[in-house]
Amino acid sequence: MGKVAVGVAALAACAVAGVVVGRRVRSRRKWKRVVGVLKELEEACETPVGRLRQVVDAMAVEMHAGLASEGGSKLKMLLTFVDHLPTGSEIGTYYALDFGGTNFRVLRVQLGGRRSLILSQDVEQQPIPQHLMTSTSEDLFDFIASSLKQFVEKEENGSEPSSVRARELGLTFSFPVRQLSIHSGILIKWTKGFSIEDMVGKEVVGLLEAALVRSGLDMRAAVLVNDAVGTLALGHYDDADTVAAVIIGTGTNACYLERADAIIKCQGHLITSGCMAVNMEWGNFWSSHLPRTSYDIDLDLESPNPNDQGFEKMISGIYLGDIVRRVILRMSQESDIFGPVSSRLSIPFILQAPLLAAMHEDDSPELKEVDKILKETLEISEVSLKVRKLVVRICDVVTRRAARLAAAGIAGILKKIGRDGSGGVAGGRSRSDPEMRRTVVAIEGGLYTRYMMFREYLHEALNEILGEDVAQHVILKVTEDGSGIGGALLAAANSSSGVDNVQLL
Ligand code: ADP
Ligand code: MG
Repeated sequence: MGKVAVGVAALAACAVAGVVVGRRVRSRRKWKRVVGVLKELEEACETPVGRLRQVVDAMAVEMHAGLASEGGSKLKMLLTFVDHLPTGSEIGTYYALDFGGTNFRVLRVQLGGRRSLILSQDVEQQPIPQHLMTSTSEDLFDFIASSLKQFVEKEENGSEPSSVRARELGLTFSFPVRQLSIHSGILIKWTKGFSIEDMVGKEVVGLLEAALVRSGLDMRAAVLVNDAVGTLALGHYDDADTVAAVIIGTGTNACYLERADAIIKCQGHLITSGCMAVNMEWGNFWSSHLPRTSYDIDLDLESPNPNDQGFEKMISGIYLGDIVRRVILRMSQESDIFGPVSSRLSIPFILQAPLLAAMHEDDSPELKEVDKILKETLEISEVSLKVRKLVVRICDVVTRRAARLAAAGIAGILKKIGRDGSGGVAGGRSRSDPEMRRTVVAIEGGLYTRYMMFREYLHEALNEILGEDVAQHVILKVTEDGSGIGGALLAAANSSSGVDNVQLL
């Protein structure tokens, strides 16, 4: 080989090396940018125990304000008129409708009259047809009534109901309702993607009963509750130490038992048992101590209800995947580690909570599930293991924050009612008080029951906030189908047929 040829070869080699080095430098720079986005997210989502305690205090303070006067807080603290919870002495067959987030359930429960004896329960579930979510109240309730009628006919198999009295029903309707009595209430607003304008401001049970009449079904609604109150009812039926209930599913909410004298805005209403379940509508809680990111701000601005349901938008199943989607979109726009920006990343709510959980909990060494979901749902293919790990990290940051904030909310309720070991806002009990009472919080909702990492982070945070000594007295209990069965139990406890209503507390 001549000198010239050697020189050319050397030059070419240098050029190739130069290209490789240049590419590496560029790729390192891009990676650095992505790591910067992640760092920013991690910092903005930080929830050290000190910050969680500020959220706990804010929750307790807002609860006070919401109880003092209508509009006193973003927490509505709605009266439920539920001042008797089922005790176990209820007898008979009751129906329930559970109408909330994603699914619609009809139930029939037979009660045996001894503590916690449910002789049988049948549940039928179906998704709420998308078009009914934005139709008219008449369409919606005709659909509900006809589903219920079919269910009743199947259950009773053509036979006459065993007693002469009309069938009684508990309606679990999980949207903000201003109760007028235990069996009537006015829809304040829609949440969770529903928007049936003619129904806002209308009395809910009247609309259902009119549809029942149209369908020819002989049934009356004995109670109108929401999922949290239903869950509290089943929780209390199973375990009399149950003081609160929390829903963490498509949306999030909580209710708890409050002393009548603490419900200042309730004065004038007769509460015979000395306390009442209060529906907090905690999805609307807000505090400057909540760790908010630019993704939360964008999600809120682009939602149909900006400035509303701020706590819910950081916690519940319908939103978590969308926060993660927004972070991946930003990273994808700032670098090409995800390849060309996938148009799927711009579709709101494309990444649902079960997918988020599947990626987060992927324990395969190659993160195959992450790879599959990126490919199939987001149309992002061929990313390195390093990038897949990054996606898992994003899921972890977003879910951990949500779970820890939910824990702070629960601790806020415990603080308000003096079950957090500090003696409550009124003071008195010391943290190490051996007399700390066993305290049960009933929980329902797919995000909590089906997402193990979420559940573990929530438990961990509650232990951190309360401290081991107190946390050992606090039990979080899952109540399967509590929202629906609890509705039936409350129908029984408040039935016109007269049940042995043992008073609360
Ligand atoms: P609803 O809130 O409609 O009454 P659920 O309590 O069953 O229904 O909760 C369903 C919600 O729970 C879903 O919208 C989703 O956000 C969340 N979810 C369901 N399954 C899972 C899962 N495997 N992992 C994470 N979240 C889940
Ligand atoms: Mg539900």
